[in-house]
Parts: sequence; structure tokens; C-alpha cells
Amino acid sequence: MSKIILTGDRPTGKLHIGHLVGSLRERVRMQNEDSYDEFYVMIADSQALTDNYDNINKVRDNILEVALDYLAVGLDPKKVTMFIQSEVSELTEFTYYYLNLVTLARLERNPTVKDEIKQKNFDKGIPMGFLCYPVSQSADITAFNANIVPVGEDQLPMLEQTREIVRSFNNTYKTDILVEPQGVVPKDKSCSRLVGIDGKAKMSKSLGNTIYLSDEADVVHQKVHEMYTDPTHIKVSDPGKVEGNVAFEYLNAFCKPEHFKKYLPEYTSLDELKNHYRRGGLGDVKVKNFLYQVLEEVLSPIRERRKEYAQNKDKVMQILFDGSDKARKVASKNLEKLKDAMGINYRKKSLLK
Ligand code: ATP
Ligand code: MG
Repeated sequence: MSKIILTGDRPTGKLHIGHLVGSLRERVRMQNEDSYDEFYVMIADSQALTDNYDNINKVRDNILEVALDYLAVGLDPKKVTMFIQSEVSELTEFTYYYLNLVTLARLERNPTVKDEIKQKNFDKGIPMGFLCYPVSQSADITAFNANIVPVGEDQLPMLEQTREIVRSFNNTYKTDILVEPQGVVPKDKSCSRLVGIDGKAKMSKSLGNTIYLSDEADVVHQKVHEMYTDPTHIKVSDPGKVEGNVAFEYLNAFCKPEHFKKYLPEYTSLDELKNHYRRGGLGDVKVKNFLYQVLEEVLSPIRERRKEYAQNKDKVMQILFDGSDKARKVASKNLEKLKDAMGINYRKKSLLK
């Protein structure tokens, strides 16, 4: 079976270090392994509208920002088709047919959507578009026959929903054209759901608890020094907790053994550092200074590459338009197959008896 990868991000803000460890790192790894047949990366503007329909400028402005982040982390438009969701209008048609295969109760049970509804406090009620966005994600995945979807943990319910729709579609229309996709989620919990700098929820563009890939070094420094650690660890000599401590969560996600040699040679491993913190005698400032250096090692090349691409924004837009044209051709062919399977093909299979 061919290996088709699809993944994407909402243009609701610039991408952050949660995206890097949750999904971008894996995308770049897969891209560089060259072991796939097709690879699509989608900027999900239509999906972003489901909770930003009255703030189109936010979505418009962030399309380019997200594209710059993609290029900065090393996604290569020669290998990966980068496209804008709304440019592929076939996706809306897929969504419309799939909506019949899902009940309201099923949509209301989606744990990620439930959490997001709580956070967003929709004052005029929950927009149907928002409640149904997992169905539109199923459309995005299946329109390209994608079977591999690298995502953070919050997207697993969307993949489950997609698999249910695939089964239901194939059963209802007695076909096997749709394939069930698999999510690829980082094994390490700190990476699959990187916590925000406030230590409360997952890092999220919409919650303002982020370190952006494009943050300047002084901003990263400030955010690291403000981040939530262990409120009971007041004096250096106090014993401290590393679980739920944001600085240690980020070290879990980013720190490699060689970083100790370079930046903190009195320790040899993260376990050793954690044990000292637990015992007492290790201050937050020392841990945070180390974390800052580790993050800077990762972020400074990304930041520099991003600045270079930002000098050629028209070229970046052309990459997105070329990718969208390519994606549209594929989705259009697959939509025809979908409608054939359903029997919505009156020009091919005549209604006249
Ligand atoms: P928004 O607040 O607008 O929903 P977001 O920060 O959650 O933005 P998305 O565009 O919704 O970002 O998510 C894009 C991809 O990044 C998804 O695969 C998602 O699982 C992953 N992702 C987002 N936040 C994190 C995080 N904190 N840790 C790991 N993966 C994440
Ligand atoms: Mg999200």
C-alpha cells in the first residue's frame, strides 16, 4: 500500500515549540527519510474560521506566518505539498457527505472539542462549524487517501472519528475506497502534549501560553524565567517537584545528553539533575538558565532561516498556490471516486431506465 502522509495546522497564530515537538519534528524526519509516496501539509484556514469567523484578518495574516514557520523548520516544498485548505473547495463537499454519517451525540462526546468549547466560552452558543470540525478533518485526511497523520495527542479523537467515518462510509455504500488512517504521536508524553509556560493547559496559540519558533532570544529568555515551576520550591535548599514543573517538562522534550557537557558540565544526565532538584539544593534559576541555552540551540537556526524566507514573501505565497493547485487536482479526482461510490454520478450512470 502506498504511504500517503497528511498533516496541518490552523493559521490562528505563529507556530510554537509545542508544534515543533508534537508534530513538526516528526514531519521533517519523515520528509528526510524519503520513505513516502505523497506528503501533504495543509494550512487549515477554513477550520480556523470555525472559531474565528468574525476575525478574518487574524486568519489571513497567519497563513503566511505558518508557511514561514514550515520553511524555517526545514519542510521542503520540493518534497512536501504545502497548501491552503480553502483553495481546495472539494474538501467542503467531502465534509457535507460525511456529516450524514455522524450523529450530534457523537460530535458532542469528542473530548478535545469538549475541552475547547469550555476554554472558548462561545457567548452566542456553539457554532455548528466548530462542533463539526472533526468531520472536516476527516474530509481533509480522506480526500488525499492519507494513511499516516503525524499529530499531537489532542488530535487522536479526530483520527478515531475519521476511522469511524471511513468504516461507516465503506459499509453504507458497499465499497472499500476509503482507508483508515493511523496517527503518529510522539511516544514521550512531554512531546505529545507540551504544556504551556503557565503550567495549566497544553501550549496553544489560542491560550497565549506559548514560546513561538520566531520569538527573539530575549523574549525566550524572559518567558523561560517567568515560567511555572514548583510553587513550594521557594528556597534553593527546599526539595522540589519535577512532575508538572514546566522547566523540567521542556527539558524532557528538548534536552540531549551532549547539552550537559556543553552548558552544565557538573551534571551528566537529566536524571541526575532531576534527582538533585528533588533532594533540594538546586535553584530554579540554574535550571532555567540551562533550559534557555538548550532552547536557544534549537531555536536560533530556525529563527535565522525564518528571517531569510521572510525577505521573499511573494515566493512563499507562490509555494502555497502551486501546492494548492496540485492538492486540488488530487482531491478532485478522489471526490469523483467518492461520488461514484455513492451513486452521485448522473452523467456517468444515467437516471434513465
Ligand atoms: P489553536 O489554539 O488555534 O487550536 P494550537 O496551538 O492548538 O492552535 P493547532 O493548529 O490546533 O495548534 O495544532 C496543529 C498540530 O500541532 C496538531 O497536530 C496538534 O496536535 C499539534 N499541537 C498543538 N499544540 C501542541 C502541544 N502543545 N504539544 C504537542 N502538539 C501540539
Ligand atoms: Mg488546536
